[in-house]
Amino acid sequence: MPPERIAIRSAEVGDGLYARRALPHRARRMVGAWCFLDHLGPLDFEAVHGLRVGPHPHIGLQTFTWMIDGEVVHRDSLGNEQTIRPGQVNLMSAGRGISHAEDSVDGRSGTLHAVQLWIALDEAHRHGAPSFRNYPELPVVERDGFRITLLVGEAFDRRSPVEVFSPLIGMDIAAAGDAQMRLALDRSFEYALLPLVGVVGVDGDTFTPDAMAYLGAGRDGVELRSKGAARFVLIGGAPFGEDILLWWNFVARTPEEIQAATDDWNAGERFGEVQGSPSHPLAAPDVSKLRLRQTSR
Ligand code: MN
Repeated sequence: MPPERIAIRSAEVGDGLYARRALPHRARRMVGAWCFLDHLGPLDFEAVHGLRVGPHPHIGLQTFTWMIDGEVVHRDSLGNEQTIRPGQVNLMSAGRGISHAEDSVDGRSGTLHAVQLWIALDEAHRHGAPSFRNYPELPVVERDGFRITLLVGEAFDRRSPVEVFSPLIGMDIAAAGDAQMRLALDRSFEYALLPLVGVVGVDGDTFTPDAMAYLGAGRDGVELRSKGAARFVLIGGAPFGEDILLWWNFVARTPEEIQAATDDWNAGERFGEVQGSPSHPLAAPDVSKLRLRQTSR
C-alpha cells in the first residue's frame, strides 16, 4: 500500500501567526496517541511579532514541543517558567487541568521553527495531577547520511527520556544532502511522516511540507530518501484504544466534560493562574457549536 496523502491546513495559533496543521484531520484524527500536530515556521519572527499565545487551559493531554530553531518562554500555573531552546523538548502533562502561555522572548530577533504535538492521555492517566518538564538533551544517532534525534520511545538501541504513558515513537530526521535508508518499523504501530523542509521520498512517493504521509500499521520497514537537504518528523504508536473528543485545548470523552472545563476556565477555577506572560488570556469558544456538531453526525 502506498502512503496515504493527508493535506495540511493553515491554522492561526495566536496574534496573526499561522501554523501548518497536520492533525487532527477529517481523514485522520490520531496516529497512536498523537492527536494534534502543528508545524510552525521556519519564519523570521520579527515579521510576525513572534509567538504570542496567552494563558489558556488544557485537560486530558500532554503538550509536546520540539524546538528546531528559536526560543520560546513557557509559563504555567504550577509556577514553571522555562525557555525552550533548539534541540530541546518541553513536555507538559495536563491531567485534570493546567494552564500555560507561550511567548517569544521580547526584543530578540531571529527565526522560529518548531513542532507542537499533543498526546492523548488514556483513562488511567487523564485525571491525574498536572506536571511540566524540560528535556535539554535527547539521543542523536547518525545513520546513512541522516541525523536522527529520538524524541519519544526506543529505536537504534537508544531510549528517549521523555515520559509518556502509551506505546509511542517520535523521531526528527534530517539530512544535509542526498541520503537514503531503510527504517525498521514495529508492525503493531501505525505511523505518519511529516516533511518540515525539502523533499522526502517515502517508499518511492514524494512528499513536501504541504502533506503528511500516513503509513498505517502492519509494516516492518519504510524506504526513506532525501533529495538534497531535507528534514521530517516520524510519529507512531499503538492505535489508541479509546474514542476521544478533542475541542479547543481540551481532550475529553463527552461534551459534558468539555462544557465543565469551559465553565471552569470562564469562572477562573480549576486551572490556576499563569504569572508573567505579556499576552492576554485566551477566551474559550462557545461549546454549543460542539453540541451541534455532535448531533449532526
Ligand atoms: Mn497550549
